[in-house]
Amino acid sequence: MVSAKIDIPQDTFLVGIGSSPGIAIGESFLLHRDRTAVVPRAIDAQEVAEEVESFKRALQMSQEQLHEVKRGVSDKSLVDHLYIIDTHLMILEDEMLVRDTIEIIEKERINAEAALHRTINKFKNVFSGIEDEYLRERLSDIESIGERVLCNLSGETRQSLADIDQKVVVIAHDLSPADTLQIDRSKIIGFVTDVGGRTSHTSILARSLGVPAVVGLETATGLVPGGIPVIMDGTNGTLILNPSEMTFREYLRKKQDYEYQEKELLSYKELTAITRDGYRVSLQSNIELPMEISLALSQGTEGVGLMRSEFLFMGRTEPPDEGEQLEAYLEVVQRMAPHPVTIRTLDVGGDKFVPEINLSDEMNPAMGLRGIRFSLNEKEMLNVQLRAILRASGKGPVRLMFPMITGVAELRECLERLDAAKAELRQEGHAFDESIPVGVMIETPSAALIADQLAKEVDFFSIGTNDLIQYCLAVDRANEHIAYLYEPLHPAVLRALTLVCKAAEENGIAVSMCGEMAGDPLYTLILLGLGISELSMNPSGIPRVKRILRQVDRSAGQDILAELLDLPTAKEIAQRLEKRMAALFPDLFAEPSF
Ligand code: PEP
Ligand code: MG
Repeated sequence: MVSAKIDIPQDTFLVGIGSSPGIAIGESFLLHRDRTAVVPRAIDAQEVAEEVESFKRALQMSQEQLHEVKRGVSDKSLVDHLYIIDTHLMILEDEMLVRDTIEIIEKERINAEAALHRTINKFKNVFSGIEDEYLRERLSDIESIGERVLCNLSGETRQSLADIDQKVVVIAHDLSPADTLQIDRSKIIGFVTDVGGRTSHTSILARSLGVPAVVGLETATGLVPGGIPVIMDGTNGTLILNPSEMTFREYLRKKQDYEYQEKELLSYKELTAITRDGYRVSLQSNIELPMEISLALSQGTEGVGLMRSEFLFMGRTEPPDEGEQLEAYLEVVQRMAPHPVTIRTLDVGGDKFVPEINLSDEMNPAMGLRGIRFSLNEKEMLNVQLRAILRASGKGPVRLMFPMITGVAELRECLERLDAAKAELRQEGHAFDESIPVGVMIETPSAALIADQLAKEVDFFSIGTNDLIQYCLAVDRANEHIAYLYEPLHPAVLRALTLVCKAAEENGIAVSMCGEMAGDPLYTLILLGLGISELSMNPSGIPRVKRILRQVDRSAGQDILAELLDLPTAKEIAQRLEKRMAALFPDLFAEPSF
């Protein structure tokens, strides 16, 4: 590698958020995109019309540029994502953006740039206090649109990714989805940004493109000059500046291993998820946004094991009506057919904050009005959702499940509401699946403890380990100070899982898992031993889990589980499991160093 041009110590490690896996080794390219400077300027009455006109012209130019981006996208893996550009086009027509900006120009007599800047800040204030990562990320869509219009207003030309003509790792403050859609993979081998999170549109696009990305590195553009050797690892979020010979060799090997594994894993796409002795496990996907369907299909998903319906309720002032919900569910159902889609009723509250839904301030929101408790309180909202889910079931295989159930009485109330919704639809002559499978999420200790009773009233269980672990161990899943206590392998968690699976088996109902544990290959054998017949995960986890399943007999899982259930601490369980997995799959798991 060429040596660093400026004085950056060898092997300087920076850590951000790995948002698209893969390793890139190359030269940095610093994308200079100073934010357009906004200088407020008072204007007189005669200038008002002209300022409004130039604002409208800038809007129109922005629209034309975005249409141009859309026209330029031919890559099949990206076509699905073009709706992001449509969202940006919609923001350009947003009444609040256009009307408020014009009003500020007219009433306050200031230039269009300053007026627009003020409107964008208003949007920002609404979004900035939001804890939910997905929603907060929507603010970046508004910012990126604002920046484009400001640029067009000031007549500045921005450095474009299309001008890059050599293989580089791009370092930028931020990349808009429009930028990302224009990435030429033969030139841009990876990118690093100061801002952004795992669920930003830019990150989702990077994953679809297969371009490694590290986001949220905060000061990258301040620290990393252009033209120096860098290594980035989008799997764990590291960026290494000016790597030493040793680091370079180490990462070159990691990169080759990663690429080899990815190629090999792809060959599992068409294969069945079945153990050597014929035990079949269905591998499905968790979907938060319809745009994730393509990725799920590309990984060989056998359906959607968890469709989180929260996204439908976000970024709006009124809840979606039945028609809109039906359309969204049908899109997923039709594209997944003949595979089933499991739709979960709204699960707001706790850490899932939806500002449009007025949740009162609670001392302890994780234990407050969340999930099914909220839905049962909002009778009409629940009825509309149940009707939409039922109607979708008339068009393809749909399953319905309720989140955060704690008892049989609560479940019965849900089932009564479901019966009422069915009766309405019957009377109105709408088609639906009369025997739509109904399940409960097992994600509270109470649900786990009474699993035998719940099993008598539903068709399936879906274990939500993200919450089950938090409630079992009394560890807030979002609190980084106690993250070390969040232990999926705690004996209490394993016992709870055993109890639930036993109850399901004794009552002859299916049990699936849709928490993060389902997609982590370290746990695959435990889940096989437990007899969980469906695992629903982030789609990119499917090939690895499938590979493990295909290389063992079911008894390997049962043996490991029995061994682990005897151990008293999470640490001992983890050590034993890691050792066993490294022995069985040396290419996937490193031998632990303890
Ligand atoms: C869970 O709790 O494991 C789960 C899948 O639901 P969510 O992460 O949406 O709470
Ligand atoms: Mg949950």
